[in-house]
Amino acid sequence: MLQCNCSIFGDETTREALVIDPGDQIDRVLAVLAKHGLRVKAIVITHAHIDHIGGAAKLKAATGAPVYMNARDQELYDHIGTQAAWLGVEEPESTEIDAPADGGGTLVFGESAFHILHTPGHTQGSISLWIPAENKLIAGDTLFRDSIGRTDLPGGDSREILRSIHSKLLTLPETAIVVPGHGPNTTIGREKERNPFLQRF
Ligand SMILES: [Zn+2]
Repeated sequence: MLQCNCSIFGDETTREALVIDPGDQIDRVLAVLAKHGLRVKAIVITHAHIDHIGGAAKLKAATGAPVYMNARDQELYDHIGTQAAWLGVEEPESTEIDAPADGGGTLVFGESAFHILHTPGHTQGSISLWIPAENKLIAGDTLFRDSIGRTDLPGGDSREILRSIHSKLLTLPETAIVVPGHGPNTTIGREKERNPFLQRF
């Protein structure tokens, strides 16, 4: 319903996959994995909003893969029933978080490293994933094309999100492709130059 982007990275040699933000429609995610003969090694959550984490329990049950999330979003996840009620949707099944996604940590996967950047502001536990081998950033709901994440929900902080973006994301190569949690892809260079929320610094 909220059109969250779910990303699946598959390693062509090991056939291992990483799934980021399985919000819903797990049948579709499983179909993509089956089509490419991929086995899920990890499920990574950029932050604990229902549209990003709602399908995690179902995907974990289907694949046995561990779920990674930053511990600072645990409280938000514990209140996923409240999030569901706000949206008027059914509360999804919850799961244990198996491993913390801490800033400075790295998930090594096939030949690629996924660097975890702690980018609080949209939520306290929001993370972004920087994949140098792919020149790609998974930005969750921190940075969008022409916009930034909203900060008016519990745990949001408008100064902090700008600090996160300026210190951790805009310092990446300008050619880096940004895959936001919603909407079309962009690049770091484009957002540096044109994003209206980032021009006043
Ligand atoms: Zn969100």
